[in-house]
Amino acid sequence: MVRETHPKVLAVTGPHALEEVMAAVHEHLPRPHDPFTDLVPPQGIKLTPRHYAYLKISEGCNHRCTFCIIPSLRGDLVSRPIGEVMREAENLVKAGVKELLVISQDTSAYGVDLKYRTGFWGGRPLKARMGDLAAALGELGVWVRLHYVYPYPHVDEVIPLMAEGRVLPYIDVPFQHASRRILKLMKRPASGEDNLERIRAWRRICPDITIRSTFIAGFPGETEGEFRELLDFLEEAELDRVGCFAYSPVHGAKANELPGALPNEARENRRERLMQLQEKISARRLKRKLGKTLEVLVDEVKAGRAVGRSAADAPEIDGVVHIEDGSTLKPGARVQVKVLRSDAHDLWGELGIRQMRLRASAASERRP
Ligand code: SF4
Repeated sequence: MVRETHPKVLAVTGPHALEEVMAAVHEHLPRPHDPFTDLVPPQGIKLTPRHYAYLKISEGCNHRCTFCIIPSLRGDLVSRPIGEVMREAENLVKAGVKELLVISQDTSAYGVDLKYRTGFWGGRPLKARMGDLAAALGELGVWVRLHYVYPYPHVDEVIPLMAEGRVLPYIDVPFQHASRRILKLMKRPASGEDNLERIRAWRRICPDITIRSTFIAGFPGETEGEFRELLDFLEEAELDRVGCFAYSPVHGAKANELPGALPNEARENRRERLMQLQEKISARRLKRKLGKTLEVLVDEVKAGRAVGRSAADAPEIDGVVHIEDGSTLKPGARVQVKVLRSDAHDLWGELGIRQMRLRASAASERRP
């Protein structure tokens, strides 16, 4: 129909179909030799620092959460073939990446649209499923962090991989609310009670797991009682990292048609109350790390100290670890850091004794 109406249109593709678009362009306009782009390495060009990279595994989403318009903008779920994802991951690791951040709109649905089709990586068959992908990525010897994991029941399958140290013991799982009624209005699964059960089970399997989640405060019709239910859930769940948005009536979202819209100030006020509570919880949880030695990936070195992240910290959205005696470290180094101080977001520590000894002996070997 598009081509009938607009005969000059040469091709029609789906959203974010970069390869299809480029194939169509090259079909009609052969690619000229370009001395610059022809030098682009196989892993492509990254905008993130050299030592970490985002690995997009799919685009779009099959859910229809009433507050969200992503499916109408990006369409239904389209997963990348597992062999292609693994080859990109492998190239990134070969290029020096030390941490892969798996992203999508719905990581746990990976492969549903492909009917979990088998692909090949290094001649080995692999199914396009989140668990199989996470296990294969875990073989690359770098940190693997899972983001945007929709709380499907099969998510439980990746927790043992975390306990075994194959992927980072970190899960970014948006719960959005705790009240069963509000979750239903949002068209989201489960309830606070169900999620508490799951969190307890995850912690039994992997006691060091870091759980990150996001919530919406002031959803249309949310009563004070339902909001308190959410606060009680947070007290009980003791999540490590939490983001909260005041409900925002995005143009085109179904939730805008629900009765009982709250005034802006009320929504913002609830968001602030939630974040104040979470700040106390976060400070409590970080305090438990005092005296422990954590593995830290160094992000940058400035003003005589290094700043890095532990398994519990994703770049940009979580806290950091300040390494007070880390001035000689290089970005991308993985070091052991003993935690000395904490606040509600970050940790401060120094290089572990073993690390200092290793550095001292390396320095003495270098001496003439
Ligand atoms: S909130 Fe997430 S799961 Fe829900 S429709 Fe939007 S992208 Fe999909």
